[in-house]
Amino acid sequence: MGKITGFLEFDRKVEAYAPVEERVKNYKEFTIPMPEKELKDQGARCMDCGIPFCHSGCPLGNLIPDFNDAVYRGKWEKAAHILHSTNNFPEFTGRLCPAPCEEACVLGINEDPVSIENIEKNIVETAFEKGWITAQTPAVRTGKKVAVVGSGPAGLAAAQQLNRAGHLVTVFERDEKPGGLLRYGIPDFKMEKHVIDRRLNVLEEEGITFKCGIHVGKDIRADELNNDFDAVVLSGGATIRRKLPIKGADLNGVVQAMDFLSQNNRRVDGVTNFKKEIKATDKDVIVIGGGDTGSDCIGTSFRHGAKSVSNFEIMPMATTERPENQPWPFWPMRLRTSSSHKEGAERFFSISTKRFLGDEKGNLKGLVTAEVEWIKVPGQRPQLKEIEGTEKEWKCELALLALGFTGSEMSIAEQLGLETDSRTNIKASENDYMTNVPGVFAAGDQRRGQSLIVWAISEGRQAAYHVDKYLMGESLLPLKGEGDLPRI
Ligand SMILES: Cc1cc2nc3c(=O)[nH]c(=O)nc-3n(C[C@H](O)[C@H](O)[C@H](O)COP(=O)(O)OP(=O)(O)OC[C@H]3O[C@@H](n4cnc5c(N)ncnc54)[C@H](O)[C@@H]3O)c2cc1C
Ligand code: SF4
Repeated sequence: MGKITGFLEFDRKVEAYAPVEERVKNYKEFTIPMPEKELKDQGARCMDCGIPFCHSGCPLGNLIPDFNDAVYRGKWEKAAHILHSTNNFPEFTGRLCPAPCEEACVLGINEDPVSIENIEKNIVETAFEKGWITAQTPAVRTGKKVAVVGSGPAGLAAAQQLNRAGHLVTVFERDEKPGGLLRYGIPDFKMEKHVIDRRLNVLEEEGITFKCGIHVGKDIRADELNNDFDAVVLSGGATIRRKLPIKGADLNGVVQAMDFLSQNNRRVDGVTNFKKEIKATDKDVIVIGGGDTGSDCIGTSFRHGAKSVSNFEIMPMATTERPENQPWPFWPMRLRTSSSHKEGAERFFSISTKRFLGDEKGNLKGLVTAEVEWIKVPGQRPQLKEIEGTEKEWKCELALLALGFTGSEMSIAEQLGLETDSRTNIKASENDYMTNVPGVFAAGDQRRGQSLIVWAISEGRQAAYHVDKYLMGESLLPLKGEGDLPRI
């Protein structure tokens, strides 16, 4: 695979970023494309390691050494076939995946790993540019009807696989446009929305019907939907936001991250009629929560023209090195610094927000924190302890709560009598993705809880296989890691 001596000859390279002062002026993606020669050299670094652990690092089981080799040899169309055989939407993962495959790359044991994600993005972009990605309409229709609830990456992957198996698929989405968190959570500077629209055009051409602005459970009862269709896939995401129930949480200026991000994504899309504008312009902004959502709030705040942006994380600062108790090839909890962090945010760790402070008009003017430590108790989860005498007051006019999601909404589960777990995720086993109600399946964040795009696509594909098998008695759809080579 690749060039036998490639890893000795070439250093790892990924796309560079446009300078901060330029990129914060707009919402466009800011990576600088690499010349083909450099991409081929990167493919050449894949070193015929024998057992490609990257396969198991990737939740889709992507056939990574195979597409690396094709890129090294300049066989881009072959690379695109291999990539699409396990991944419906590499343009999403090639931009947004945290790349657990790279943490499992054998070269990564003592060198920089192969730049798999960047290669993936360039394969799919080349394929779109060359016109190789076209609608794959099924030769035969089965006459079976499947409803998919939710149009995030899980719903879209399930829909495409089921449509390719010949079923008539209708996707129900309560937002005005499909895409889920890809469209209304993740900002354009990480992935411009035309990337989603380009793929949706292919899905529509393949025969999938999208019904937007329909909230299943409100506009249509879930049990009615279940009666009208032969099978239902629930992929509504984990949408319940974690709150911060402290004094002052209702002040004007304390805002849930998703309200801030979804409004801005709509604004960039041309929407103007908001009941209340949420802007970071000229404000001292504090983003509470150190994950992806927090990072997206930081980048968006800079693009609004915030005066300053600080980021609080309650956990201690991780090391940049792989911790000893999380050995290769596992995913390590190490310090990750996003492009948004690098735009000028100050990061604070082991810090807890105790109360918000308001002025006489009910507007946020600051907050109070304390430093914390995590005490290890044998056999129990670490316990949080405030360090005495560390209280500190901070000035801020906008506090963005990026504290994650606690589970999925219950209305559909209640209407269908579905079992859920203690976090309100819909119970469906990884063996068949079917809930306790026959013919009703669940996939993505609504089943596994808040997770990643690559997992959502993987679950959508796996669920589709089991829906197809349920409807037809058997399925020819590929399972995880089983390439289905002819399809793009
Ligand atoms: C701000 C943010 C940034 C992120 N960044 C990254 C990243 O960089 N990389 C990464 O891998 N992951 C990222 N994630 C996580 C990733 O976006 C999710 O794991 C993924 O989108 C889950 O996909 P899904 O299809 O299960 O659900 P979602 O994407 O949440 O889609 C669910 C869809 O279902 C719809 N829906 C819900 N209920 C109903 C109903 N009753 N009727 C009709 N429609 C309904 C919703 O409107 C939504 O469109 C991020 C998450 C957030 C919030
Ligand atoms: S989808 Fe993510 S984990 Fe899989 S190969 Fe691509 S970057 Fe790696």
